[in-house]
Amino acid sequence: MPKKTFAIGIDLGGTSIKTGVVDKKGKILDQISVDSKASKGPPSVIQQMIFTIQHMFGKYKETECMGIGIGSPGVISVNEGLVKNPPNFANWDEVSLSKAIRKATDLPIFVENDANVAAIAEANFGAGAEYKHFLYVIWGTGVGGGIIVDKKIYRGPYGGAGEIGHVSIDYNGPVCNCGNHGCIEAYIGQRYLSQRTKEILKSQPKDMPPSKIIDFVDGNLDKIDPYIISMAAEQDDRIAREILEEAGKLLGYALVSVLNVIDVRVVVIGGGISAAPHYVYKAMESALRSRILKPNKAAVRILRAQLGNSAGMIGAASLVM
Ligand SMILES: [Zn+2]
Repeated sequence: MPKKTFAIGIDLGGTSIKTGVVDKKGKILDQISVDSKASKGPPSVIQQMIFTIQHMFGKYKETECMGIGIGSPGVISVNEGLVKNPPNFANWDEVSLSKAIRKATDLPIFVENDANVAAIAEANFGAGAEYKHFLYVIWGTGVGGGIIVDKKIYRGPYGGAGEIGHVSIDYNGPVCNCGNHGCIEAYIGQRYLSQRTKEILKSQPKDMPPSKIIDFVDGNLDKIDPYIISMAAEQDDRIAREILEEAGKLLGYALVSVLNVIDVRVVVIGGGISAAPHYVYKAMESALRSRILKPNKAAVRILRAQLGNSAGMIGAASLVM
């Protein structure tokens, strides 16, 4: 029997599929990224996934592979490898990814929610490695998360645990995609942050020095995104800094409720906006510490995720190892 030395981790996203060959230490030995063809329906997406697997088995021996792990958006039934209604995927109601991928290989296949997969990656190889329990928050287009207890992901009895984005901080607040009001996602998700920045810039008095954000988008305010806000903030742009600090503070308040309920004291922040400057983390942590119940006050910590864009592939591969 050949020694099993690696696993394949697939990070399935609405725009791309990233497939990595990952060793037992969580190191990515090789990777490939292809268009996910999400608008063309499940058969096209599956074909793309199989293409990346076969590509890797052209370079690495299938007999030395432990199995294939997949991180996918949507609601996942882990036991059947079933993916239900992933947002931004056309004509996708319920698809068993394990069954579909099994046509290409006899190796074990595991499917897990993408936020959970990133949490697992940070737990095994990243910012959460030193901690037995933590809350992972993915802050990007939306706000999601995963709960790690005793080094394991907590899915909840129906697989839906960790929906941190839909913790409401104001019952009269803006309407969220989910129908609730004042969800944290409706304040700090990518679209909201960009929209709010646009409004603030438009309302600036003419005699104020112009924000660097306007330079970065060449005056086209529709091009604003959190990355641009972060870039301006790094160059000490006052408006950008205030917007990000406020977003951090609001996330801190949402975390108060979550940590009070689940009794976890460490938070790891991942996702695209987690690259925000240090003072955003400070704002988050001081909001959290100022309002959390007393027993947890001194011990709470907020950490930046360490694995960046690779967390999806590494976590997916970890499902197998
Ligand atoms: Zn919501």
